[in-house]
Amino acid sequence: MTAITEINEKRIQAEDYVQAVFETVKKRNPNESEFHQVVKEVFDSLVPVFEKNPVYMEQSILERIAEPERVITFRVPWVDDQGKVQVNRGFRVQFNSAIGPYKGGLRFHPSVNASIIKFLGFEQIFKNALTGLPIGGGKGGADFDPKGKSDGEIMRFTQSFMLELSRHIGPDVDVPAGDIGVGAREIGYLFGQYKRIRGCYEAGVLTGKGIGYGGSLTRTEATGYGTVYFVQEMLKEIGLSLKGSTVVVSGSGNVSTYAIEKAAQLGAKVVACSDSDGYIYDPNGISLDTVKKLKEVERERIRDYVKEHPHAEYFEGCSGIWSIPCDIALPCATQNEIDEAAAEILVANGVKAIGEGANMPCTSGAINEFLRNTVLFGPAKAANAGGVAVSALEMAQNSSRISWTFEEVDEKLQQIMTNIYRSSVKAAEDYGYPGNLVAGANIAGFIKVADAMIAQGVI
Ligand code: NDP
Repeated sequence: MTAITEINEKRIQAEDYVQAVFETVKKRNPNESEFHQVVKEVFDSLVPVFEKNPVYMEQSILERIAEPERVITFRVPWVDDQGKVQVNRGFRVQFNSAIGPYKGGLRFHPSVNASIIKFLGFEQIFKNALTGLPIGGGKGGADFDPKGKSDGEIMRFTQSFMLELSRHIGPDVDVPAGDIGVGAREIGYLFGQYKRIRGCYEAGVLTGKGIGYGGSLTRTEATGYGTVYFVQEMLKEIGLSLKGSTVVVSGSGNVSTYAIEKAAQLGAKVVACSDSDGYIYDPNGISLDTVKKLKEVERERIRDYVKEHPHAEYFEGCSGIWSIPCDIALPCATQNEIDEAAAEILVANGVKAIGEGANMPCTSGAINEFLRNTVLFGPAKAANAGGVAVSALEMAQNSSRISWTFEEVDEKLQQIMTNIYRSSVKAAEDYGYPGNLVAGANIAGFIKVADAMIAQGVI
């Protein structure tokens, strides 16, 4: 056999392996399109890894890694303000604990189902590995809609949710945090209920806690800041910076708010943001004070921004935000918010960099469009890993009963984002995908987890 034939055979074998396992995943998890989408994206980039290291195929690593260690679903009954009993479905997917306790947020949103939680949990495995910190992958949530609910309803729901969840979590077992619909208020209620049930103060069981009771400074800002730090690294590579650039950010929740804040601090002009109803365009640069007041204090809609800033415009619907010309686009709201058509418009308008603050905000068609046009692309599992990284720093502070200053945590966050960027770049180069951070991040995260799984036997 010639050397070329041998290389081709190894490639074909790796491709066949990946395809066969993907078919099994689809069959075993029918009708879970988001989960299939993320598994396919990760699997496809791993072909050269199997080609070079057949031991991963011999050890059936893909078959194991795509099957959660545990999936928990449960009934969440609660009583609304009218005295009526409501029922929601709760989830926790404990995906992989090879490198540490399961770690990942809780999402409260009506769209939550098994597919959404599994896609998020699967992503989380590799994201957490990329941070370089000892945390496994998990995710959870409920199909509960916090919008329009009173504080009392939110509290009764979260207490009922925790009553069941508490059986499955713990500081060395599984450590949830926030995500869409789960912010400081919800984490507070969840933590209070866990403490009552357990009868002890286990600060490290949840992250994203208030500063007064075990939270870490910079955790609130971490995902948004981290996304911008990651974009800064990408821009540096080609001699650009955020200074003087025009930025569009989708969403107006936790990730978006602090992405806007950091981008503005670094000299960018952020001209648009949104919520699930529509988006605002402010050519003077968004007033973050107004956005924070509307969203964090008054819990109002983004359309109300124009009442205080009449020169700004409000547009109904979400997708139009990507037609605003910008240098940098930061999708920070939800999955699949930039499709191929939106990506084409961004490219035609001269976008230079994309940083995925949300999880899987770009469809695979959109990602390909960006890569084809050499737009710098920071994939979610690398670009938004700052949140979970600071969560792990919160766990470290809880274990040692100390608190670091804002500056200390922010400095560690910047270092972690730089390390993630460098390890993604290196893995991409090592495996034949120069400049492709999607593949680089998948590979770097995968190798760390796969090696730990092999070292621990058949787990
Ligand atoms: P928030 O609930 O704080 O904010 C979500 C924002 O996105 C809101 O503005 C919301 O609008 C908007 N949104 C939600 N669903 C949709 C939708 N279907 N269409 C359009 N807009 C929508 O969540 P986070 O900021 O915490 O999370 C945002 C994204 O970032 C998610 O993908 C999450 O998984 C990811 N992420 C979050 C991390 C964190 O630390 N919080 C860490 C890593 C990733 P509205 O107010 O109308 O609902």
